[in-house]
Amino acid sequence: MPCTARPEYWSSPVTDHAVPAAFVDRHIGARRDEDIKHMLNAVGYDSADALADTAVPDSIKQASPLGLAPALSESEVLAALRGLAAKNRPHVQMIGQGYYDTITPAVIRRNIVENPAWYTAYTPYQPEISQGRLEALLNFQTAVEDLTGLAIANASLLDEATAVMEAVLLMRRANKNKDVAAAPGHGKTVLDADLFPQSIAIVAGRARALGFEVEVADLSKGLPEGPINGLVIQQPGASGLVADATGLIAEAKERGAMVTVAADLLALTLIKSPGEQGADIAVGSAQRFGVPLFYGGPHAAFMAVHKGLERQLPGRLVGVSKDDAGRPAYRLALQTREQHIRREKATSNICTAQALLAIVASMYAVYHGPEGLKAIAERTHAHARTLAAALESAGVEVVHRSFFDTVTARVPGRAASLVAAAEGKGVNLRLVDADTVGVSCDETTTADTVAVVAGVFGAGPAGDAADTAGGAPFALEGAMHRASLYLQHPVFHSYRSETQMMRYLRRLSDRDLALDRTMIPLGSCTMKLNAAVEMEAITWPEFAGIHPFAPDSQTEGWRELIADLEQDLASITGYDQVSIQPNAGSQGELAGLLAIRGYHHSRGEAQRDVCLIPASAHGTNAASAVLAGMKVVVVATASDGTIDHGDLAAKIEANAGRVAAIMITYPSTHGVYDADVREVCDAVHAAGGQVYIDGANMNALVGLAQPGQFGGDVSHLNLHKTFCIPHGGGGPGVGPVAARAHLAPFMPGDASVWHVGGADEHSLPVSASRYGSAGVLPISWAYVKLMGGSGLTEATKSALLAANYVAKRLDAYFPVLYTGEGGLVAHECILDLRELTAKTGVTAEDVAKRLIDFGFHAPTLAFPVAGTLMVEPTESEDLGEIERFIEAMIAIRAEIDQVAHGDFPLADSPLRRAPHTAAAVVATDWDRPYTREQAAFPGRTPSQDKYFAPVGRIDGAAGDRNLVCACPPLEAFEEN
Ligand SMILES: *Cc1c(COP(=O)(O)O)cnc(C)c1O
Repeated sequence: MPCTARPEYWSSPVTDHAVPAAFVDRHIGARRDEDIKHMLNAVGYDSADALADTAVPDSIKQASPLGLAPALSESEVLAALRGLAAKNRPHVQMIGQGYYDTITPAVIRRNIVENPAWYTAYTPYQPEISQGRLEALLNFQTAVEDLTGLAIANASLLDEATAVMEAVLLMRRANKNKDVAAAPGHGKTVLDADLFPQSIAIVAGRARALGFEVEVADLSKGLPEGPINGLVIQQPGASGLVADATGLIAEAKERGAMVTVAADLLALTLIKSPGEQGADIAVGSAQRFGVPLFYGGPHAAFMAVHKGLERQLPGRLVGVSKDDAGRPAYRLALQTREQHIRREKATSNICTAQALLAIVASMYAVYHGPEGLKAIAERTHAHARTLAAALESAGVEVVHRSFFDTVTARVPGRAASLVAAAEGKGVNLRLVDADTVGVSCDETTTADTVAVVAGVFGAGPAGDAADTAGGAPFALEGAMHRASLYLQHPVFHSYRSETQMMRYLRRLSDRDLALDRTMIPLGSCTMKLNAAVEMEAITWPEFAGIHPFAPDSQTEGWRELIADLEQDLASITGYDQVSIQPNAGSQGELAGLLAIRGYHHSRGEAQRDVCLIPASAHGTNAASAVLAGMKVVVVATASDGTIDHGDLAAKIEANAGRVAAIMITYPSTHGVYDADVREVCDAVHAAGGQVYIDGANMNALVGLAQPGQFGGDVSHLNLHKTFCIPHGGGGPGVGPVAARAHLAPFMPGDASVWHVGGADEHSLPVSASRYGSAGVLPISWAYVKLMGGSGLTEATKSALLAANYVAKRLDAYFPVLYTGEGGLVAHECILDLRELTAKTGVTAEDVAKRLIDFGFHAPTLAFPVAGTLMVEPTESEDLGEIERFIEAMIAIRAEIDQVAHGDFPLADSPLRRAPHTAAAVVATDWDRPYTREQAAFPGRTPSQDKYFAPVGRIDGAAGDRNLVCACPPLEAFEEN
C-alpha cells in the first residue's frame, strides 16, 4: 500500500494536534475529531460528554472534577522522577533477610524488562499465541524443580513470605494423617524461629484470621510437643545457618507432620536440596536470579512440591500438551483459572502472579547455566567465609560455622553503632538486635567491600583474611554438600553467547502476541497503553537498587513518590486512605476484607463472618473471602445482569447479625453501570455489613464516579489494569487497597516488624515488604502526573466511547448481552454467542481461536458468562485498530453463517480448525473444504504482517491427563 493510501474510514484529513502533542494525545488512541465524530455518530451521541452523562447513573456521579495537579509533559515527568530518584541514596546492600543484590545481565534487561514484546503480554490463557512466554515459564519451573529436588513447581507466587503462608495452607489442606486430623484444630503449624521475620508475621497474621495455631520454635532444641500439622524450616536460616535437616524432617513426618523448606535458589547450587532432605514442599524467592531489589518487589516467589501434591498447588502451572498436529505445545495446566471454577473451594486466591520476574529469573539460569550459577554461588560463599575469618581473627564472635552467604556476628551492646559505622562507609548491614549484626554477601560483593566491612568490625584487611579462608574454616557442613546434578536440560547449556541469548529471546517473543502487535480486547483486564516514558524510571539504580529494609534516611525519594501516589489514588477513588502494599488485585481484596474483619472484631462483632458475593463476581472474590476467614453466601443476579434485590434481601435476612460484607464489582462484571448500586450498599449497611467494591473496573469510573462516595467502605484497584503497569504475561501487579477513615486503622501493617500482641495488631500485613511491588509504582505515578485530572477523565470517556462503538457495531452480528441506561454499556461489553452455538455448534472458543488467524488476541472467554466473549477496547486503541477488530469479527460471523448453510462441516471449518499454522497451510496435502487463502489470510489480514500461530489448537485435556511440567526432551520436537 503506498503511504498516501488510507482505509476508507479515515474519510477526512487529519486534524491538527496541538504542537507539541500533550501526553493525553499519545495515550488516547482516537483523538482526531473525525474519528471521534465517526464513533459518536454510530452510537448516536453528539459528544463523549453526553454519552458519559447518559451512561453513568445520576445517583453516583462525582460531585466535582478530580482535584489533581495539572498534567506534566513527558520531559517534565522524567525531570520530576530524576528529582525523586536523587532523594534516594543507594548503598551497598548487605542486609539480606530475603533480598540480595544481583546483576541483571544487560541482554536480559534490554530484551525482556525493557521490551514490550515481553512486558505487554497478557496472562497466557490463550496458549496458541503464548508459546514463547510459556516456554520461558516452563524453564523457570524446571530450574526450580531441579534446584529444590522436587517434582513439580509452579510458575511463580507473589513473594517469599506469602509463599510460606501458601505452603502452610497447602499443608493444612493436604495433611490427611489420622492423628493430626483428629487433633484439636487439626494440629498446630510450627515455624522455625530462624525464618525471616516477615514470613513469620504473614503466617501469624493469617492464622489469626483463619483461627489456627502457630508456634514459633527454636528447632535446635528439637521439635515442640503435641500434634503438628506442618513444619516450616528456613535454609539457609535468617541467621545464615546451613544445617542438615534430614533427621528433623524425618522425625516430623514420623509424627504426622508435613514439612516445607523455605530455600534460597543460589544456595541450592551448593547445598543438599529440600527434596533430598525429605521435604514435601519448597518455597522461596527467585529474586537474586537477576531481579533488582526494587525496594521490596516485584520478585517471583516459587513453590515446588513432591508428586501427588500437584492438584493442591496454588498459582499457575505450565504443562506440556499437544497441538492438533501432534506436536508438543505448552499451556497452563490443571487449575488455569481455578478461582473461577472452584470459587470458595479454590486452593488459593492468587490470580496475577509474577510472570515477568519469573521469566527474568529463568533466563538468568538459562544464560549462566549450572556452572555459571555455581560459580556465582561459590564466589558469594567465599566472600562470606573471608569475612567470617577476618572477624574471628579480630576476636569477633561468629555465631555459625556453616553458612552460605550470611555471617552473623555477636557484638554485645555494639550492634547499632557498628551498623551505623558501616552505613557511614556506604554499606547497609542488618541490625538483628542490640547484640547481633548480620552481613549478607551476594553476586555483587567484592573483596574491597569485604575489607570495608571487616574494617568496621576492627578486623584487619581482607587480604590477610582471604589467605586463611582458602583453608578449612567455615566450610559448609559436610552432610550439606550437594552431590546431585541440576539444570541438565539442553536449554540451560545452549545460550552462552550474547548473540545466542538475544536470538533466543527474540525467537520466543516472536511466537507471542502482545500489545506491541495487536489490541488485546480483554474484558475486565484493561489492556491499555503502557507508555515507554512511564516505564523509563523503573530500572534506574536509585529506584531499583534500594533494599526494602534500608533505613528511611536513604529512601526519602521512594517514600515521597509512594505517599504522593497514595494521595492521588485517594483523590481519584474518593476514599480517605490508600495502601499500595498489596501486590496483586487478589491481595488487595484480602487486605480489604481483613480490614473489614478487624473493624467488626474491634467493635465486639466477631460473629460477623458472612460475605455476600454476587454470582457474577470475579473468582478471586470468593477465594479471598475464605482466606480472610469468612463464609461465602452467593447472591443471585437478575436476568438484566444486576443484583437480584429479592435474593439480596433474603440472604441478608437469613444471615441477620452475621453479615460482615458484600463484595460487588462496579461497574458490574456484566459491563454495565447498575443504577441501583446505592440501594444495594444501603441495604447491606442497614444490616450492619460493610461494602467492598472491587475496583478492577475503575477504568469506567476515573473522573466520573468515586466508589468511596457512592457507598463503598473499601475497594482495591488494579494498577496493572487501570493505571498502566504492564501485565508482564501474568504479573507483576499492584492491588492498592483504598478505604474510608473508619477502616484506616485496619490497613496492612509492616511484616518486618509486625507481631502478635504488637501495637498495630489489627493491621495484618499482606505482603512481605512494606510497599509490596514498589519497583513498578513509578509507572502509575508517571501516568497520573502525565494525564492530570482532566486527562484521566478524558481517558475514561474515550474508553466508554470505544466500548459503546464496538457494542453498536457488533450487536447485529453477536448480540450484546447486557446494556444499561440508554442502551449503553460501560467500558466493556459481553457478546453473546450462545444462540449461535446452539444453532451451529460454533463456540466462543472457536471464535477466540479464529481471531488468531486475523492476528488478534482473543477477548475474555467465558467470563463472567459461559458461552460469551467480553470485549474491552480501552481508550488507547485508535479507530483503525478497533475497525480492524470489528471487521475480523464480522468476517468470522460470515464463516459461522457458512457453517450454518452447510458450506463446510463444523469439524472441518476454518473456525474449528483454527488457528492455522504456516506448516498446516503450506502442507502438500490440503484436503479441507475451504481454501488455503481463507485459512491464512481471512478478511483483510495484511500479507506483509501476517502472524502465524506457532502451534495449532492445543488439546488441553490431554495435557492434564498426562501432566508434564518440566522442559520436554528435545527429541519431542523432532519432526518426522
Ligand atoms: C483482575 C481482577 C481481579 C484480580 O486481580 P489480580 O491482580 O489478577 O489478582 C479481581 N476482580 C476483578 C473484577 C478483576 O478483573
